[in-house]
Amino acid sequence: MINKKMYELGAKRSEIRELFEYGLRRKAEIGAENVFDFSLGNPSVPAPDSVTEGLQKLVSEVSPETLHAYTSAAGDVTVRAAIADYINKNEGTDYGAESLYMTMGAAAALTASLTALVGEGEEVIVLAPYFPEYKVFIERTGAIVREVPSDNLTFQPDIDAIKATLNEKTAAIIINSPNNPTGTVITEESVIALAEALKDAEDRYSKPIYIIADEPYRELVYGGVKVPFLPKYYRDTVVCYSYSKSLSLPGERIGYVLVPPTVSDSGSVYLAIAGAGRALGFVCAPSMLQRLIPFCLGDTSDISVYDRNRRLLLEELTSYGFTLVKPDGAFYLFMKTPCPSAKEFAEVAKKFELLLVPSDSFGCGGYVRISYCVTTEQIERALPAFKRLAEEYGLGRGK
Ligand code: PLP
Repeated sequence: MINKKMYELGAKRSEIRELFEYGLRRKAEIGAENVFDFSLGNPSVPAPDSVTEGLQKLVSEVSPETLHAYTSAAGDVTVRAAIADYINKNEGTDYGAESLYMTMGAAAALTASLTALVGEGEEVIVLAPYFPEYKVFIERTGAIVREVPSDNLTFQPDIDAIKATLNEKTAAIIINSPNNPTGTVITEESVIALAEALKDAEDRYSKPIYIIADEPYRELVYGGVKVPFLPKYYRDTVVCYSYSKSLSLPGERIGYVLVPPTVSDSGSVYLAIAGAGRALGFVCAPSMLQRLIPFCLGDTSDISVYDRNRRLLLEELTSYGFTLVKPDGAFYLFMKTPCPSAKEFAEVAKKFELLLVPSDSFGCGGYVRISYCVTTEQIERALPAFKRLAEEYGLGRGK
């Protein structure tokens, strides 16, 4: 007998993928330049030179037996030490290699952390709108997803609603800043209030309640905004990091889990994450990609392109009469739909060859996500279509 839950996950493509596949078909029908695909978070800016140069150096200087060999399950110790040094330099911490566990991107970091920290029947809080895969990752552990809507004007966490949701079954809360799909960066003020609420709940229920900080967009921030480093504010924080977005390497699968020594019983938490990685069959993160990271620490792809796209879209779409949340990070815009049904709006947008993701996928209604990690030229070509879409709904007077 096949596992019904797994069958359903395999048989039912995510709505985002579905839209992307539709875009491919449509491009074949009417030409790629006539379809404006804003569906996927696939970085369009090439990886920085340090990636290509690092890979060339590795291939020419490291023997294949080493380069392609298994590393230790937690990852190569020199790589982990280099990453720890980099974090220490930025955050004034004192971490060592033993606090890092290398993974295949943030997805594997999240599944390993959730498997390690969350038990069957426990609850994990996610702040809506949220990355849809959280639900899949959490439910696989047998835990229950507790959705808490964020403030609907700022998309900052609603601390009172979180307090009302915390209970003796709460095992963890996932915090994603900068956020997919809103681009919001959680402010220091919100982080302090959240930390206080969680600490109170830990004391009340006499058990750790973990923050799982999902941070693949940490470096993708604009206008000098700072992303608070959560372990500094709340001791029971593990960080799931990925190089997918910062180095434009999403298909290569490299990231890590950081278990700071300040986490309660951090040694056991680390070993549980290693055990989860083992049970999930991760073996080790890709060896060559691990070894690449020390060449690229502190580097990012040219994010000025995303910033330019963000400003262009914000300015133009606002002038057409749309309402948008100004994002400080990631490469997504969350646009309010002028009708109650986001799905209906996204269907109408398709008439203008605009592929926008309805917010229902992210656990809230009334918005669409626009992924602007595309070329600026695509945005410029798409603007007349957005304008016609606004006119279809009688918004503003257009430009
Ligand atoms: N978390 C969030 C919020 C994301 O948006 C993504 C990918 O889009 C991931 C995790 C997964 O990232 P990775 O490619 O590193 O597994």
